[in-house]
Amino acid sequence: MVEMTFFWVVLGVWLGLALLSLVALIKISAPYGRHMREGWGPRLPRTAGWVIMEAPALLVFLASAFWAASGPRWQNLPALLLSAMFILHYVYRVMIYPFRLRGGNTRMPISIVVFAVFFNMANGYLQGRYLHVLGPLYSAAWLTDPRFLFGGALWAIGWAINLHADEVLLRLRKPGERGYKIPHGGLYRWVSCPNYFGELIEWTGFAVACWSPPAAAFAIWVAANLIPRARTHHLWYRETFGEAYPPARKAVIPFVF
Ligand code: NDP
Repeated sequence: MVEMTFFWVVLGVWLGLALLSLVALIKISAPYGRHMREGWGPRLPRTAGWVIMEAPALLVFLASAFWAASGPRWQNLPALLLSAMFILHYVYRVMIYPFRLRGGNTRMPISIVVFAVFFNMANGYLQGRYLHVLGPLYSAAWLTDPRFLFGGALWAIGWAINLHADEVLLRLRKPGERGYKIPHGGLYRWVSCPNYFGELIEWTGFAVACWSPPAAAFAIWVAANLIPRARTHHLWYRETFGEAYPPARKAVIPFVF
């Protein structure tokens, strides 16, 4: 099979899985973190789980870029900058975030990790391969195109929101402490899950900046995954904290949802 055909098949199947995942996540919450429960098979430590889940996105992205006769397009500045957006996010997510988690040595189901590994492998391949081998080469003019400028700015704002919101959560617990508290500050003023909101903004920005089918599919995947989870978190906060929980707070999109 010509690789381009393989690429579109992977993209199509991957998008189909996003829709299936959306339907599934509306009905059942993914069993990790506060929604952890019995019946999902053997588990492994959470830190290892995060590294194993997220590393394939980074490794497969790099392998897909390098594994080509022409070599990666690092000398093409737009491709380099777009790759940097992806790589920076995942370097943090794989090498820093998992080691800062607090709340004791909790575990997550291997089934969740396996599913996420497949998601991230497919995504690493789709983004890396299209940017560096299969997609059209960006011209230098792309650097001043409004789509690149606006998308790049959105990406940066989204990542900053995501990092700040995760930081607030990580600091809620003192080392060794367990349990959950009501988070405050930043976008927690308006939503229960600004970390997910940031991630949505970030990958929507990346999709606009790349202006490519795989980047758009990634943004759709993130929305299919995180919007239902944000709703589940939001309902959990309301149920757990009752009237103490800020009543005007939405789940994930300020003033909307
Ligand atoms: P959560 O918000 O569920 O949890 C993040 C961390 O903060 C966990 O360690 C959690 O502990 C802790 N925490 C959360 N709420 C509280 C609270 N109220 N009080 C004390 N501690 C709290 O995020 P996820 O674990 O689902 O995701 C982590 C990051 O990964 C996010 O930035 C998210 O955007 C990103 N992500 C991206 C996905 C994508 O599709 N691109 C998919 C999934 C996640 P505990 O584990 O004990 O609950």
